[in-house]
Amino acid sequence: MKILVINAGSSSLKYQVFDMEKGEMIAKGLCDRIGVDGAISHKRPGKDTYKKDVELRTHDDAIALVLKLLTDPELGVLTDISEIGAVGHRFAHGGEKLTKSTILGEQEKEYLYSIVGINPLHGPPAIKGLEACQKLLPNVSHVGVFDTSFYSQMPPSSYVYPIPYEYYETYKIRRYGFHGTSHRYVSGKAAEYVGKDIKELKMITCHLGNGSSISAIKNGVCIDTSMGFTPQEGLPMGTRSGSIDPTVVTYLMNALGLSPKEMDDILNRKSGLLGVSGVSSDCREIMQADEEGNPRAHLAMEILYHYIVKIIGSYAAEMDGLDVLVFTAGIGENDAVVRESVCKRLGFLGVKIDEDKNRTAKRGEFCDMSLEGAAVKALCIPTDEEYMIALDTYNLVK
Ligand code: AMP
Repeated sequence: MKILVINAGSSSLKYQVFDMEKGEMIAKGLCDRIGVDGAISHKRPGKDTYKKDVELRTHDDAIALVLKLLTDPELGVLTDISEIGAVGHRFAHGGEKLTKSTILGEQEKEYLYSIVGINPLHGPPAIKGLEACQKLLPNVSHVGVFDTSFYSQMPPSSYVYPIPYEYYETYKIRRYGFHGTSHRYVSGKAAEYVGKDIKELKMITCHLGNGSSISAIKNGVCIDTSMGFTPQEGLPMGTRSGSIDPTVVTYLMNALGLSPKEMDDILNRKSGLLGVSGVSSDCREIMQADEEGNPRAHLAMEILYHYIVKIIGSYAAEMDGLDVLVFTAGIGENDAVVRESVCKRLGFLGVKIDEDKNRTAKRGEFCDMSLEGAAVKALCIPTDEEYMIALDTYNLVK
């Protein structure tokens, strides 16, 4: 069966097609600048990327173009659209009710509309992508896979904020967690690699990319994660502050007369590694500047390590131990210096890495960098959220 995976953003739409019997991705691409002008890039493994500027007024236009390309005699991978057995849709947010991957009927769609208020950035475009797909592929199941569902079994002590309880009850202000599909994928792969049932393991997974989060997974259940009500909480990220004293926000708003939108912009787009370094939001550029002696670039990286180590330490305490530590995403998969700097500070937990193995690990490939006999397995595992979405979709419809 072929599964189409859709990840719709406000002006972009990513897609991948998987052949589930072979377990292979057979095509992927990106529709960009939807509603502005429009462009598509379309790729099949081992073949040249096809790129074209083409008018994309809406998500409907984008999906129509994707389906046309997928069945194109030269560029396509399907003889007919009917080969698509089901569509998996990535949703960042499933609220409190959509706690596992689900075939989306009218009731689920209504619920997704009802939680747009707490998910204003990702919710509306994801629903647009879903509706555009449902129009053009009305005869197949559309499955929602939710980043938040991985966190649905966190204990209330992890997810209830210590603010008046009625804000949780009335407005659903709580910690939801994000990147769950990635944490779920790499934790499953890690358990497979160490050859143990995930239910017997204490694991910490670090998704370090432009957005970053860390999760604590005890006996197969995620018990804590660093992102919260939004993907803003937790670690400092490319341009996001992560956790700061909330009074800094009200103080600055008062002192500078900032509107909520202006404050939000500072916290989301002007903070984090960019805000501290003043150089870039990209780790590679900051590390380059650090090497060249830029003190703020150095500080930005030190703050990042400080937060990562602090969170890992607290999660190990929550789980009363640690068996497996996983690094993934853009920084986690590619940056041996970040992995080494973090692991070196975790010796007290039993994390001991072979520096050669870590440094010579091929970028973006699996690596077991643990020193022989180390109490904690330290692994680098490339994430594959799209495959996870395809697998959930397949398992629900096959
Ligand atoms: P992601 O959001 O997972 O795509 O990760 C993006 C981030 O990964 C970028 O901001 C970079 O800082 C980082 N990154 C990507 N490739 C490398 C690399 N080869 N070395 C170091 N950092 C990298």
